[in-house]
Amino acid sequence: MGQLETAVKNRDRGVHHAWLFTGPPGSGRSNLAVAFAGALLCSDGGCGTCKNCRMVTTGTHPDVTVLSTERVQISIDEVRELVTNSYLGSSVGKYRILIIEDADRMTDRTSNVLLKALEEPPINTIWMLCAPSEADLLPTIRSRVRRVALKVPSVEAVAQLLVERNGIEPKLAAQVAAEAQSHIGMALRLATSTEARSRRRETLLSALNLRGVSSAMFAADQWLSIAKKDADALTVLRDSEERTQLLATMGLKEGETIPPALRSSFKQLEEAQKRRATRSLRDGLDRILVDLLSLYRDVLTIQLSAGVPLVNDDLRSGIQDVADGSTQAQTLEKLERIALARKRIDSNVQNLLTLEALAVSLRASE
Ligand SMILES: [Zn+2]
Repeated sequence: MGQLETAVKNRDRGVHHAWLFTGPPGSGRSNLAVAFAGALLCSDGGCGTCKNCRMVTTGTHPDVTVLSTERVQISIDEVRELVTNSYLGSSVGKYRILIIEDADRMTDRTSNVLLKALEEPPINTIWMLCAPSEADLLPTIRSRVRRVALKVPSVEAVAQLLVERNGIEPKLAAQVAAEAQSHIGMALRLATSTEARSRRRETLLSALNLRGVSSAMFAADQWLSIAKKDADALTVLRDSEERTQLLATMGLKEGETIPPALRSSFKQLEEAQKRRATRSLRDGLDRILVDLLSLYRDVLTIQLSAGVPLVNDDLRSGIQDVADGSTQAQTLEKLERIALARKRIDSNVQNLLTLEALAVSLRASE
């Protein structure tokens, strides 16, 4: 992290105006961007306790704006607003800092709005973009940012974090850290929700038991419903909390008729929640596919006698059977099919059809 430390040390003499933090989801890239912002605004270079530091970490610092999205895509209006914001200058500190959490979720048109701001940066404005990889951004944007690449934390490091920070029992922590492939948020969810854990297990068991075409259709259907349940578990509670909160803001009670003048606010909330549900389902499907990737990587590990630990060690005997009953080439082909399904689901091809096609290609060879 040398260049960040250097930037913080020399912050009084100016800071480069655009940064890109890359790393897979769960690697802590947006946390790092926020910490960097705090360090640049703190007179001690990030003491963690002063007013500036506290405001930055709680998201209330007037000079730091974070754009995070629950949607599949960041809208062009959101970016326009942020760009307008960037010309306001800072109010309490030296810098005005704008953080875009999922900079990969912008269309080219939206990216070009941002590009204008990066080309002619207002003085003392700092942009911090976060994305899975550099390749997720337009080359014109890439050429203007300083890059900070985060490494995926090791399985051991994630397990240790769960033990120390969340009081998770060490054996369970090690298991979920491996299963979540070092995604910190996912590991914590698996550790604290038996339902999430059993949904993951069901997904993998049905893949291990794929035989004929009809069992493939059945599995695809099951995966879709597991993804829905997983998405619901994450959104339903939040949806109702938000509604209750909105009712309270307007002085209404649950079940009371909403006056016509206030209806549009509820409509807006419902629409935002619907958009979030769409993304949530897509994220759920992607998690399933990532889990399936880990399963067939385990199969390949056994076929190659690679001697590295399995991600899904508790399913070892089923994995062994699939490894014995197929060739390395077939497993590689399956891994490619899963990667293809991830791309298709990302580009909105019908979910069930994509899963069915995948399940058919994952069947044990006859
Ligand atoms: Zn401080």
